[in-house]
Amino acid sequence: MMDGRAHPRLRGFGTSVFTEMSRLAIEHGAVNLGQGFPDFEGPDFVKEAAKAAIDSGRNQYAPSHGVPRLRAAIAASWTQDTGREVDPESEVTVTSGATEALFDAVQAFLGPGDEVVAFEPFYDAYPAAAALAGGRLRPVTLRPPGWSFDPEELVAAFGPRTRVLLLNTPHNPTGKVFRRDELSVIADLCRERDVVVLSDEVYDRIVFEGAVHVSPATLPGMWDRTLVINSTGKTFSLTGWKVGYAVGPAPLQTALRAVHQFVTFATATPFQEAFATALEVAPGLGYYDRLREEYTARRERLRTVLEEVGLRTLPVAGAYFLLAEVAGHGFRDDVAFCRYLTTEVGVAAVPPSAFYADPNLAPLLARFCFAKKTETLRKAAERLRRLPPQPGGV
Ligand code: PMP
Ligand code: GLN
Repeated sequence: MMDGRAHPRLRGFGTSVFTEMSRLAIEHGAVNLGQGFPDFEGPDFVKEAAKAAIDSGRNQYAPSHGVPRLRAAIAASWTQDTGREVDPESEVTVTSGATEALFDAVQAFLGPGDEVVAFEPFYDAYPAAAALAGGRLRPVTLRPPGWSFDPEELVAAFGPRTRVLLLNTPHNPTGKVFRRDELSVIADLCRERDVVVLSDEVYDRIVFEGAVHVSPATLPGMWDRTLVINSTGKTFSLTGWKVGYAVGPAPLQTALRAVHQFVTFATATPFQEAFATALEVAPGLGYYDRLREEYTARRERLRTVLEEVGLRTLPVAGAYFLLAEVAGHGFRDDVAFCRYLTTEVGVAAVPPSAFYADPNLAPLLARFCFAKKTETLRKAAERLRRLPPQPGGV
């Protein structure tokens, strides 16, 4: 229970759904397909680079905005992908994970009473970051099966206090990859209302057949108002290293850095060095293509498992989650279903209602992570076969 002296701003932000479901999974010995992290090792060439950095004495504070070699590698990678030259000194900042970059940016641009527009379902850190800045999140709902939004609802969410729009593409938990025409509608509005865009693109390398990842920063007139936030943890399957970064114009970076210097000051030096190596050599090794192929195979493995036990899955274009329809299993809501699945069936999933402003409006779905080894998915399959078609839950 939280201390009664804690500020009321913290109300409603007790323990994250990921911590809760992982704890329940451990308690019940469940196969954890809940919290999004790979249960396989990241690439040896990146791990070796971290060890070498430690052994060669790269162990003191890094410059606050990031080690030069990593910033240069991020800038080069951005230029490679988008054709735009980026200044590594003023247009790239390294943070302790994407979470820190998002938090810093929200604190930098939002004050008490200000508003952030974000598409719902949204990653749980977004409303928390807005609330801690004294601001408020205005959701615009994405609706299945295509997870499209109503442009009129988007316009209606903008008000005189809107300072920031938070976008996530590829999207967690739906797997949606925003199309260029959708991004244009968003971009027009943000330009018109002079709103800063924080674009969370942590799954940019995990996109599937036919889908193309487009950053809103690459749309006409958008560079100057967009911070693109990314995380090397997803791309290189090393989520525990927590190295993230923001790419964007110098004035927005200056604001972000003003917060970053007092939140963490700097990010772990040897891991920054290792990720510099990772970004430098990955394209030449065909690493990104292989990552996509492997995730496509993992997605299909999990899809087959879920469909076999009567859990119909929704199509996904990116990221590493599948949403399955759980209506018809007799549960009141997704939380009851996911708790039952974890404690009685032995497979943990995440209830997507945790990603909604009003959890009662969430469709009845469960989120399963497929960043898992084949043997983990096989074990999950064995257990899921115990799931009765109509378990008659509460
Ligand atoms: N944004 C989204 C959409 C995520 O799913 C996650 C977590 N995996 C993050 C941000 C956080 O990334 P990091 O671990 O680098 O803080
Ligand atoms: N992003 C991961 C997910 O969506 C979890 C990260 C975390 O535990 N905060 O599952």
